[in-house]
Amino acid sequence: TQVFNFSSGPAMLPADVLRQAQEELCDWNGLGTSVMEISHRGKAFIEVAEQAEKDLRDLLHIPQNYKVLFCHGGGRGQFAAVPLNLAGSAGVADYVDGGYWAESAAKEAQKYLTPNVIDACTTVDGLRAIKPMSEWQLTKGAAYLHYCPNETIDGIAIDETPAFGDDVTVVADYSSTILSSPLDVSRFGVIYAGAQKNIGPAGLTLVIVREDLLGKANIACPSILDYTVLAKNDSMFNTPPTFAWYLAGLVFKWLKAKGGVAAMDKINQQKAELLYGVIDNSDFYRNSVAAANRSRMNVPFQLADSALDAVFLEESFAAGLHALKGHRVVGGMRASIYNAMPLEGVRALTDFMQDFERRHG
Ligand code: PLP
Repeated sequence: TQVFNFSSGPAMLPADVLRQAQEELCDWNGLGTSVMEISHRGKAFIEVAEQAEKDLRDLLHIPQNYKVLFCHGGGRGQFAAVPLNLAGSAGVADYVDGGYWAESAAKEAQKYLTPNVIDACTTVDGLRAIKPMSEWQLTKGAAYLHYCPNETIDGIAIDETPAFGDDVTVVADYSSTILSSPLDVSRFGVIYAGAQKNIGPAGLTLVIVREDLLGKANIACPSILDYTVLAKNDSMFNTPPTFAWYLAGLVFKWLKAKGGVAAMDKINQQKAELLYGVIDNSDFYRNSVAAANRSRMNVPFQLADSALDAVFLEESFAAGLHALKGHRVVGGMRASIYNAMPLEGVRALTDFMQDFERRHG
């Protein structure tokens, strides 16, 4: 049976990339050694690093006045790095709360500034939704506005980029949706993403930061989280996660060969339509997020009869459909369908779901 892994992370990589990495593992580039064993300061690795950055810049059309940083620390590292780098003298920043991760970011920021938490959650016809941006109460003089465009656990998305004028620096946690659809980087002050969903293995974190925001870090900011220090040292102030960086580079090449972010966007749309379609056309399954805010990356769904959850998980696993158990906070099921998940995988899941419904409905 072919296995499709619907896990939310860590690390969803395209099968082709894993195969290439396996082939090159012990003998990279004819060097007779692994890429993870060569010096990060040597010419060979610097070429890998620079090519990865170039390919990412091409994929996202990153303007010249933005630095790309390859860091440690994950998404949660950035929950601290953002206020430490950007708070300046303002002492306050706006945090849009649309779900678990946005709320977690605000909690961490509280150590360094006063977050003005904007509760953006609401319900529409009994379904979870995000309030319109016109209802978000921003703070005058806030250092920045932080939000999370894709809530990995809740399956809630904010697709519209916040637009409150040039005075408002928008910071976004793109951990679970970067490179899944086109993105206008120029609308953001900072975009960050833990690599482990759409990019590569855990341990690598991407930061895309507008240059004029550099040089403002709090004196207490650890150097390894300081955007200015990282930028000055080409993300090699300390030893970077070189193997993860190399794998990310392979994923960027794979994405380019697939037709880039626009092509991914189309496939991701097809995948999401297929899965939500099956959920919506049945009384056996349901999703509790309003259509306008449904995530295309993480699809939580419940069985109408939760007594069937265990047998659903057992049978789906046996059919090669792995890791469908929902996050403990939300319960039920969750299918994460990042870039690395092919359309066939989602089709295998929906075929299984319909068959399961016929047998147990
Ligand atoms: N932000 C989002 C949207 C996430 O999905 C996650 C983890 O799943 C995090 C932040 C936390 O990332 P990390 O575990 O790399 O700190």
